[in-house]
Amino acid sequence: MSIIQAMTEKTWDLIVVGGGLTGVAAAVSARRQGLEVLLIEKAGFLGGAPGTLLINPFMPYSTTVDGKRFELSRGFFSELRVLLKELGGYKDGREDIHEEYVKLALDRLVMKEGVRPLLHAVLCGVEKDGETLTAVKVVTKAGVLTFRGRYFIDSTGDADLAVAAGCPYHLGRPDGLCQPMTLCFRIGNVDIPTFQKNRQAMQEKYKQFQAEGKIKNPRENVLIFNTLVDGVLHFNTTRVVKHNPTDPFDVTEAEMIAREQMFEMYYFLRDNCPGFEHSQLLYSAGEIGARESRMIDGEYLLTETDLRDCVKFDDAIAAGNYDIDIHNPEGTGTSHYYFPAGTWYTIPYRSLLPKNADNLLVAGRCISSTHEAQASYRVMPIVTTLGQAAGVAAAVAAKAGVGVKDVDVGKVQEILVENGAFIGK
Ligand SMILES: Cc1cc2nc3c(=O)[nH]c(=O)nc-3n(C[C@H](O)[C@H](O)[C@H](O)COP(=O)(O)OP(=O)(O)OC[C@H]3O[C@@H](n4cnc5c(N)ncnc54)[C@H](O)[C@@H]3O)c2cc1C
Repeated sequence: MSIIQAMTEKTWDLIVVGGGLTGVAAAVSARRQGLEVLLIEKAGFLGGAPGTLLINPFMPYSTTVDGKRFELSRGFFSELRVLLKELGGYKDGREDIHEEYVKLALDRLVMKEGVRPLLHAVLCGVEKDGETLTAVKVVTKAGVLTFRGRYFIDSTGDADLAVAAGCPYHLGRPDGLCQPMTLCFRIGNVDIPTFQKNRQAMQEKYKQFQAEGKIKNPRENVLIFNTLVDGVLHFNTTRVVKHNPTDPFDVTEAEMIAREQMFEMYYFLRDNCPGFEHSQLLYSAGEIGARESRMIDGEYLLTETDLRDCVKFDDAIAAGNYDIDIHNPEGTGTSHYYFPAGTWYTIPYRSLLPKNADNLLVAGRCISSTHEAQASYRVMPIVTTLGQAAGVAAAVAAKAGVGVKDVDVGKVQEILVENGAFIGK
């Protein structure tokens, strides 16, 4: 029997669609609870945003309690940091990550744990029996393959699986606009000390060039991060607004606009800014990055008020305090709401539950929430904790033989805490 035949003939305990940090956290966590797990990913590697979009670094995930650093994203996320650090792809405190090490660490992890990965496979449909998903269909080089499962997790970032299953959702804010898309890129051979000395002057020159119409990018400043590679800087600074990340023609146009912005930025820096005289454009991400797209309309809609009030939900499965960081969906400007030191919000299990499906969980940047709430929990540390929670919940449901809405949430919380997670209380 061929591998394809063997994999398509069985019924998996759990199928996870989307192999980003969320999906890997979900798959590994469920596997550790004894489930047989298939992890489906459209790219040629695991990890999602760091590899597909060149996202770096980990955004902040700690606060201060009694004068000491207090980490809010732990469990699988802490484990990932340790793995990356051992490989040399992460440094404590700096929070920069190297995407090649992320890919390698996750390959090794899923193989060690016995998760079955399937790369280069794009979800293209589902089979359903009433409100129960029975199978997913994926497009591969071997044609369309159908995989049957008892439970499913959607960690595609765009809620592709939930939408294919007919679950209700919304796109961005009430007028349908999402946070801007950004094509990240890297510039090498930069004289970093000289750049740092002249950083403020560079920002002022950027504004001047923008005012003179020489720079078309609507972003208010140049957003730059360090990398772990000598002389290389990471740019998260292109901005394409008013394009729908789930409309393929909009995304096509957005990629081209962002590429023009990347070259505009590179030439601006090389020709005008100290430190960049001998710099070289290295590469851009394989895909333009969507900060926000579809979010399910699930059993509980997490709101900005819940976050600002730091609500401690009874069914909390994760916690966070990253600022409500909204890049203007219409043009220039970025707004922030920072949480006071020592405070955090929680995320309820119900926000992972789509309507109209009893064996499907949604994790990652597309859970049930408003535009404003998503602007905070969307960052890598927090979505990884959501993945861990979804994986554990699927396992608890499978062992009890119940739907995901009838899960014993207390049991899920207990297992999460036993495995190092912080659930906010
Ligand atoms: C421009 C930008 C800058 C950001 N900056 C930061 C930052 O500095 N720090 C930070 O912590 N966070 C940052 N974020 C946010 C963060 O990177 C993402 O929100 C987070 O990584 C999302 O994780 P996820 O697992 O939900 O989705 P993803 O990482 O996108 O993973 C989803 C996975 O599913 C796969 N997939 C999607 N659709 C299908 C399908 N139909 N079939 C099969 N597979 C599919 C994708 O290939 C991908 O691997 C940024 C985001 C963007 C876009």
